Amino acid sequence: MEKTYIFGHKNPDTDSITSSLVMANLETKLGRNVESCALGTPNKETEYVLNYLGIEAPRVLGENEVPDGSNVILVDHNNPEETISNIDKVNVLKVVDHHCLKLSTSYPLYYRAEPVGCTETVMYKLYKENGVEIDKKNATLMLSAIISDTLLFKSPTCTPEDVEIAKELSKIAGIDCESYGLEMLKAGTDLSSFTIDEILSLDAKQVSLKDVKTVINQVNTASIPDVMELKEKLEAGMTEQIESKGLDLFMLLITDIVNSNSQVIALGKRADLVEKSYGVKLENNTALLKGVVSRKKQVIPVMTENA
Ligand code: MN
Ligand code: MN
Repeated sequence: MEKTYIFGHKNPDTDSITSSLVMANLETKLGRNVESCALGTPNKETEYVLNYLGIEAPRVLGENEVPDGSNVILVDHNNPEETISNIDKVNVLKVVDHHCLKLSTSYPLYYRAEPVGCTETVMYKLYKENGVEIDKKNATLMLSAIISDTLLFKSPTCTPEDVEIAKELSKIAGIDCESYGLEMLKAGTDLSSFTIDEILSLDAKQVSLKDVKTVINQVNTASIPDVMELKEKLEAGMTEQIESKGLDLFMLLITDIVNSNSQVIALGKRADLVEKSYGVKLENNTALLKGVVSRKKQVIPVMTENA
């Protein structure tokens, strides 16, 4: 039986890596030949989770490593811009996701997306629906992703279902969400080993806000002032990218995971869009966006509306 590749989005986060592993386990249990893969190496938060469990990261697929005509399963994404470059030449068997629908195919496929806080919340239901038992390892993987995507249930993307399922998973995993979750999130905020360019691409998404070509990069921290110490260097790196990529706007969101606010640094000829969208005044290119933690719910739609 031909192998099916399972992977999450580029620049993988904890949800993309764990969903690939958890989906591969489910498919294997159901008798299918699959491989858990990734479109990048795990970030430090995800490394914390993998080390906690003592397991290996999924194999990283290089450019053009998935041959045309292969079978693939996409998790935690469906946007052609965030996946393999030959997505239109492979056979997408399934999608399990919680993002806006961007994919279009000329053939039918299994498509499961729900407006919940995390792909793993949908995964949990798939295990239940298929009567597959969730063991401690997979419960820990799922729970970690829910905590990551919802910032410990504080993000506006978090739904009552995410909270309820996380509660069930914490019982199976034998994990206290608060203490484990905070340690895991904090592990993801350690920027000490990164260059400025790496910090600027850690969780960067290029999006078009109507016709405003924008990069929105989000960096989690437990201390905004610590990251702001790098402001001048970050701005120099952002300016370089604006020039090389022809961007209208580069937004760096420095998100305080403890107090649920974001400090924004905005550069580019359309930085005014940030002021207009949030009713703030940028001083030295920066402003505090109170209560803003979710790029998906509180940034992209708000900025698009005002663009
Ligand atoms: Mn993701
Ligand atoms: Mn996700």
